[in-house]
Amino acid sequence: MRNIFLAATALALVSLPCNAKSPAAAKDKESAAKSVTAENYLDQFVDRSVSPRDDFFQFALGKWLKAHPIPPTERSWGISNVVQEETYNRVVALNKAAAADKSAAPGSNQQKIGDFWTAGMDEAGNAKQGFTPLAPEFERIAAIKDQRGLLETIAHLQYIGVHPMYSPFIEQDEKNSDRYALHLYQGGLGLPNRDYYFDTDSRSTMLRAEYVKHVTQMFVLLGDDAARAAENAAAVMRLETELAGASRKLEDLRDPQKNYNAMSLDEITAITPTIRWREFLEASHVTGIDSVIVGQPEFFKQVEASLGSESLDTWKTYLRWQLAASFADKAGGKFDAENFHFFGTILNGTPKQRERFKRVLDAEGRYLGDALGQLYVQQYFSPKAKERYTKLTDEVFASMSEHIHTLDWMTAPTKERALGKLATVVKKVGYPEHWRDYSSYTVTNTSYLMNCVRGNIWQTEYGIAKLNKPVDRTEWFITPQTYNAYYNPSNNEIVLPAAIFILPGIDDAQIDDAVVYGYAAGTTIGHELTHGFDDQGRQFDERGNLKEWWTKEDADEFTKRAAGIVKQFNDYIAVGDTHVNGKATQGENIADLGGINIAWDAFKKTDQYKSGKTIGGFTPAQRDFIGWALGCMNQIRPENLAVRVKTDVHAPSFLRVTGPVTNMVPFYDAFGIKPGDKMYRADDARVKIW
Ligand SMILES: [Zn+2]
Repeated sequence: MRNIFLAATALALVSLPCNAKSPAAAKDKESAAKSVTAENYLDQFVDRSVSPRDDFFQFALGKWLKAHPIPPTERSWGISNVVQEETYNRVVALNKAAAADKSAAPGSNQQKIGDFWTAGMDEAGNAKQGFTPLAPEFERIAAIKDQRGLLETIAHLQYIGVHPMYSPFIEQDEKNSDRYALHLYQGGLGLPNRDYYFDTDSRSTMLRAEYVKHVTQMFVLLGDDAARAAENAAAVMRLETELAGASRKLEDLRDPQKNYNAMSLDEITAITPTIRWREFLEASHVTGIDSVIVGQPEFFKQVEASLGSESLDTWKTYLRWQLAASFADKAGGKFDAENFHFFGTILNGTPKQRERFKRVLDAEGRYLGDALGQLYVQQYFSPKAKERYTKLTDEVFASMSEHIHTLDWMTAPTKERALGKLATVVKKVGYPEHWRDYSSYTVTNTSYLMNCVRGNIWQTEYGIAKLNKPVDRTEWFITPQTYNAYYNPSNNEIVLPAAIFILPGIDDAQIDDAVVYGYAAGTTIGHELTHGFDDQGRQFDERGNLKEWWTKEDADEFTKRAAGIVKQFNDYIAVGDTHVNGKATQGENIADLGGINIAWDAFKKTDQYKSGKTIGGFTPAQRDFIGWALGCMNQIRPENLAVRVKTDVHAPSFLRVTGPVTNMVPFYDAFGIKPGDKMYRADDARVKIW
């Protein structure tokens, strides 16, 4: 879910922003782990030359950040990268073994893993093929003669995982969590979101010019002459700008009610008379449904307008671009290089392409993630670790329950409902009960590009197969080897994969509770649980349905308190002179603040807290807060941060570390923070929600 929105839906509320890997460190890990103990573990992170009263982020993490600059291949570098780096090394070994296994039965997961790896690592073969395997798709676009053919082709492209014109996804119906529904959302843009088409600052203006150059160059690589390529790029930009103009802003996608518009197929067809949705959906292999959920009806009005106003040639050009852009990084060679030049270097500031094996493993994680996950947890998530983190999850829940009981701002009826919801939150820890069956996914050792195209089709089919079937509440949307976690309001569940609990470079049994409570209970378990009660999650009831269960008085009080955190983060500068978007990031900031508070009270019950005994020169309380910082450890290129401010619902990592704790008295007590210190926040400005 590096596309951390898993589409921009209300359903997938993802936890951790950070994203990275540590190059040299990983190999020595296993041996180094033996000499690392709780006593010296934090020494690699903490910069004791910085006062925690001035800058807690630099104090807690500065030493590691200085010693581990962002590698030229990366947009950012931090905790998730270090964990991911270990995972890569483990998964490479599994892949090499599978590739060498000549006895793997055709169609088995072992054969698929081995062949995916073999085809993916054949860089020269991949470059030589380029887009040749997709020639029939390009020919199909070229052969479009009329609007009917255009729509059939768009439907087909949606089926193979290219998403021109809009974004579809199949998830639970927000107002009836016992059924799946097809959602139709705004989409179809080449730049990260609508703001890029309109913002007038100099960087945005530069990016638009560079984007047009990039699209032009892609058309040249596809065989157009320079003049034709430039015309085509201008047409693409014009059409995308029309769609962007009708697209909602990041913060406006957060309102689950406003982004829920159930419609019959006749009703959506009335908005877009040119598209007869029943036929259109059949062409994308979706049959047997009578209704859809439309996220943004005004966007589809614009789709209709653009279908009328833009020529067939413009639409065909746009489809050609969308097809090429979707698979450019899998087409290898010059396409891959040009794609990286714009999206990697110009947009995100990354000088060098990442090592090929990591990119192949990332793709494999998307298409065969559960096959790898099965092998991964067998070897790397011990029953003991599962037990520790299951127990920790229970403790965090108990703490949340106490918090709700003692809230001074919530009335009894709403408290009762909140406790009822809490009692029914499903905890998924480590790995799923059952694994996805890839038997209908064909993988060969001859074409990396086509393995990925077929992987997309497999995923489309997987989604379509859910329609009109009972909801599978045991499903996981991320793999156990993923450093991430989520709360899913429709299932009222928190999902905590094995990898999210890994503290890199130390054996789990060695590390003390204080660090674990800050790190795993705070940034992850408490954070995800609080998403069930943030500005979005609180609108869903215990059955996972979008339904009001708050008294008006309590809802108003919640909104007032949430406004406090919106203001706190609006006041922060993210990068240059750009402020954080407090409104768009409020759900994550509420989850961070709730997570650390709940985890703190759970930690207070441990023997370690009660003992007050220092380890490595830090009190239990100090170690807890440093553990919290570790969970958000990340440094980031300014270019990438600028992208994230516009597209990410998480605040920058340094503010996720310092923002929430400045609302907490125990943090002040732990480090002796007083009025006048930079980390001090006046009593009346502090935010408390959960
Ligand atoms: Zn989150």
